[in-house]
Amino acid sequence: MAGSGPRVGVLALQGGVREHIRLLDELGARTSAVRRPEDLEEIDGIVLPGGESGAISRLLDVVGLREPLLARLREGLPAYGTCAGLILLADRVEGAAPGQRPLGGIDATVRRNAFGRQNESFEADLASPDLGDPPVRAAFIRAPVVVQVGASVRVLAALPDGRPVAVEDGVRIGTSFHPEVTGETRFHRRLLDRLG
Ligand code: GLN
Repeated sequence: MAGSGPRVGVLALQGGVREHIRLLDELGARTSAVRRPEDLEEIDGIVLPGGESGAISRLLDVVGLREPLLARLREGLPAYGTCAGLILLADRVEGAAPGQRPLGGIDATVRRNAFGRQNESFEADLASPDLGDPPVRAAFIRAPVVVQVGASVRVLAALPDGRPVAVEDGVRIGTSFHPEVTGETRFHRRLLDRLG
């Protein structure tokens, strides 16, 4: 890790890791891949990428990362989850794979694979009063949707029908979609803003 920016780990067990590392590098962060418990020691924040949340959940157990990551999250480690990453950060999951357990941290319920076959992948422009102009260009890939949020959760963006797809709960951010696919950088910036 070179440079002097905040140190951000990207969970690298499965899924789209490289795009997040490239984007965070461009934003001036010092990035590293998180694969083992010791990789958690030197980070100020973490990104949980998209992929398959059931597989990532299982791998967290296999490599012994679940408990140490949970401990860091409970201490207040800022985190940003995209798609499967949001599913891992949500406190409650509908349609979980057998044995899938969330890490939690965002007081929300998400439904996996919420969009039907025809709409498994699509892009949309989303208004976000918090992020301002231009609208968020969001790529949804077999995406979840947020079906319920607790009082501490701020909705950063919603679909035109009002269903939330970007949420924030304290130092935790989650998006149903992949901003790293469309060059949208404001969610990663928001995470970096939360690091010491
Ligand atoms: N459908 C995946 C899941 O349930 C998420 C897809 C993604 O991360 N792009 O985990």
